[in-house]
Amino acid sequence: MNSRRDFLQRVAAPLIAWPFLTGRAQAAERASGDVSYEGPVLRVAIMGLGGYGTMVAEAMKDCRKAKLVGLISGTPSKITDWRARYHIDAKNCYNYENFDQIRHNPDIDAVYVITPNALHHDEVIRVARAGKHVICEKPMALNAREGQEMIDACRQAGVKLLVGYRMHFEPKTLEIIRQRKAGAFGKVLFFQGLSGFRIGDPNQWRLNPALAGGGAMMDIGIYSINASRYMIGEDPIWVTAQETKTDPVKFREGVDETIQFQLGFPGGAVASCLSTYSMNDMDKIFLEGEKGFAELHPATAYGPIMGRTSLGELTQPHRTHQTVQMEEMAAILLEGKKAPVPVDGEEALKDLKIIDAIYAAVKAPGKIALSL
Ligand code: NAD
Repeated sequence: MNSRRDFLQRVAAPLIAWPFLTGRAQAAERASGDVSYEGPVLRVAIMGLGGYGTMVAEAMKDCRKAKLVGLISGTPSKITDWRARYHIDAKNCYNYENFDQIRHNPDIDAVYVITPNALHHDEVIRVARAGKHVICEKPMALNAREGQEMIDACRQAGVKLLVGYRMHFEPKTLEIIRQRKAGAFGKVLFFQGLSGFRIGDPNQWRLNPALAGGGAMMDIGIYSINASRYMIGEDPIWVTAQETKTDPVKFREGVDETIQFQLGFPGGAVASCLSTYSMNDMDKIFLEGEKGFAELHPATAYGPIMGRTSLGELTQPHRTHQTVQMEEMAAILLEGKKAPVPVDGEEALKDLKIIDAIYAAVKAPGKIALSL
């Protein structure tokens, strides 16, 4: 079956102060069985026990700083299975009706929302109001208005909001950013991003506009948008976009099949990108400057990521993205560590503003100005 997960795996062919946490952290550390680590441990509940939720849960087995301790699901049989697989206490399990009660649970620090896109807005706001930190999958929401409301709700509740941008911790990606900052490519002039796969089952939520909020752009095109920003190191100031639809039955109104888009950056660089649900193995990034270049292919799949720059091949070792992400996010949430590339709600809001503008540009050809 063609699915996004199949695709990613195929190209992969692989506020809380220390003293307050220490007791709980040590308990979690003992539970994790890692006797060499004595720092704080982020105790996480996953909401949405689907394909990606499973991947995150498996990856967290290798974390020292983050531990899966809770579940939120509408399917009782999944709770039973997952409880046995990950040794989850029954008192840390909730459904979509009662998860607000998590506010009374002192053994959960954060909830990772891994449900269909359209549910993120309400779920993140409910988690925030229950006083827990939130990690939300990308796209953070369906549009910038929703994203802003989520940021505001987390701020009002005094909790942190992070978004699952796993590439922001990926070593080859970070090495390209380091080389660019060190001047290895000179003035950056051009970025190309290709993001896509051939989507299968026409009945899946990714092809239902009410749950997906769009099509390929929300799901996979967002990787090119986000990468253009961290690779160039600037936020775009204009966008143009063109849509192609070859199958209006499968890709009904409100579900984009293929969109080409262009982004202009204040330093003069231009990005040319493709987002598609109709072409396989589209996962490339290319950056060209006056003095050098960088390229990744595969660029954003689950890894190993591969690539080179004008200085040579990139050889940083692969580590499971979600393990690294959760280790780093635990350090951000518990120790105030700064992410190498931001992963907070404001970062995700910028991508949502660009997506809003791309959808507007498809309908009204010409440059749409962006102010991020
Ligand atoms: P999935 O269909 O495999 O899982 C979704 C889960 O949500 C299922 O367990 C489903 O039962 C549950 N759910 C709860 N309410 C639902 C409802 N009303 N309708 C349908 N399902 C409902 O999807 P997925 O691939 O796990 O994607 C979930 C989220 O994770 C999406 O936002 C997606 O963009 C994101 N994602 C991110 C990455 C990444 O690399 N960062 C990879 C895959 C998916």
